[in-house]
Amino acid sequence: MNILTLNAGSSSLKAALLDAATGRTLFDMTAERLLDAPVLQFSDGTTIELESKGPERAIAVCLEALADKLKDHQVDGVAHRVVHGGEAFDRAVRITEEVEATIESLIPLAPLHNPVNLKGIRVAKDVFPDVDHFAVFDTAFHQSLPTRAKTYALPKALAKKYGIRRYGFHGTSHKYVAATAAAFLGAEPSDLRIISCHLGNGCSVTAIEYGRSIETSMGMTPLEGLAMGTRSGDIDPSIIAYLNREAGLNPQEIDDILNKKSGLLGMSGISNDMRAILDASTQGNADAQLAVQVFTHRLRKYIGAYAAIMGGVDAIVFTGGIGENSPIIRHRVAQRLDYLGAVIYEDFNNSVELSDTHPVAEFNMRHSRVKLLAVRTNEQLAMARECARLIQKEDSVNTLPTIPVAISARHIHLRQETVDALFGKGHELRVKKWLSQPGQFAAEETVTVVGPRNQIERVRVLGPVRTVDQLEISRTDEFFLGIDAPVRESGKVDNTPGCRIIGTAGSYDLEDGVICAWRHIHMTPQDAEVFAVQDRDVVEVTVGSGERALTFGNVLIRVSPKYKLEMHIDTDEGNAAEINSGDEGVLSETSGLGVLVKRRVG
Ligand code: AMP
Repeated sequence: MNILTLNAGSSSLKAALLDAATGRTLFDMTAERLLDAPVLQFSDGTTIELESKGPERAIAVCLEALADKLKDHQVDGVAHRVVHGGEAFDRAVRITEEVEATIESLIPLAPLHNPVNLKGIRVAKDVFPDVDHFAVFDTAFHQSLPTRAKTYALPKALAKKYGIRRYGFHGTSHKYVAATAAAFLGAEPSDLRIISCHLGNGCSVTAIEYGRSIETSMGMTPLEGLAMGTRSGDIDPSIIAYLNREAGLNPQEIDDILNKKSGLLGMSGISNDMRAILDASTQGNADAQLAVQVFTHRLRKYIGAYAAIMGGVDAIVFTGGIGENSPIIRHRVAQRLDYLGAVIYEDFNNSVELSDTHPVAEFNMRHSRVKLLAVRTNEQLAMARECARLIQKEDSVNTLPTIPVAISARHIHLRQETVDALFGKGHELRVKKWLSQPGQFAAEETVTVVGPRNQIERVRVLGPVRTVDQLEISRTDEFFLGIDAPVRESGKVDNTPGCRIIGTAGSYDLEDGVICAWRHIHMTPQDAEVFAVQDRDVVEVTVGSGERALTFGNVLIRVSPKYKLEMHIDTDEGNAAEINSGDEGVLSETSGLGVLVKRRVG
């Protein structure tokens, strides 16, 4: 399937036609200087210099020239990069009028990007009228940020009214390099904790815990976080009012300084290009040296912070123009990380040479517990694949079965050793009631769970015994007990807190294993085919209908022949939705507008 990817920026337009299956680029175009006299460079070696038609016509002129070049190529869909998807989009979507209107409504959040992205979409729909158009959002991957990570400590009503929260950007790249790194390591992203550093003209770093973005350095806009080519990244917010008061600068001027005149350019006074900064620093330019130090120091600070948040890290990934190409920057960031278990191998670092055929290079010592990887990002391919996936999915037909919803009350899974300690040596759990998942039962046995603040009695033990102890509680329980339990997939208990549990014959101190379970759907491989999903996909489900309907995002799909189709939510969620076990949910996917769009399956 051939997908045309478009990235419309304020002064440049990049287009590439890719075969989504092979990843091969069939044709590409770069148009620079859009605002004065566009210069178009094509992969067939030709260049067109256009007379200025004014900013209004610039994109149209470029795309018309591109369409002419592509007239002998098949184009199956057009994927548009859109910077800000706000709250509305947690994945790529087919562009409808509603989607366009939503992108437009998000302009206040991304005044520099969304208008030109939208213009690209509208012009491309005219120039390529016979194919479907899709929007791929920089923010979508970060929609999984937990509330604690996306919330700024501002007055709640103000933040809500103006949509002020952390959204995060470069999501397409972070997701792509995490998947590429995992494949290189022979693992699934859902088994790894990755810190991904996208270092290009814009720079951001993301903590990807078991496949989900849980922290990222860019915020409501792409200005926060790392120092970048021309952007300041983090500063004390009071500096803005101070500059206004003391330097007499107005908000627009300050915005301009922070976005366009700061970062490497501002600190060095030389360039926004890391190559020029590094050259100058080698020649002894003190300002360039400081710019390099600030750049790498800030990133090291974030890496330490993100490792702390995830309770460790399995791989640190460097990507983007700087991350892929600069051994010096990788060295400055990755040396002295031994305390994290990351030990750089300088020879390998210095000889990293990435290419289409070698998109990943490892540069850690053999004994390093943490992998250090340089990974070539390919946002265009990631966009093309998302788009091809949507086209394929919609080729199939309609009507979905409903999914029974079960409320999972707090419960505990135990190992036999723990059962011995709690109920006496050799004790066998007794079946009180068989559960809907085959072979699973609620046991007669209950335990008392003791936290630092309170205790909860009669917590049901589920059988049969397992290989790890795991206590699943709700957010309400968590605060009642006084335990900070992360939201985790069942079975993922690394770096989770423990607590004391008491049985009839004794007590036992769990070292770890307390989680808030990630809401999930159990299904068989046959169900998965019907719903067109795979194990560990994340979907949305709407439970109930009419005014009582409640949509749950971030629902994890778990597929096994041993399972029976059922969605599990915890008591808090059940209460919020005013539902009881037995209500039925419909597996759905958002159109990006909070409106339900049923997935069409065959
Ligand atoms: P991107 O936005 O991903 O294209 O990255 C652009 C940035 O990568 C610019 O700051 C370039 O200076 C930087 N870059 C590209 N090649 C190198 C290199 N060999 N060494 C250092 N920085 C580089």
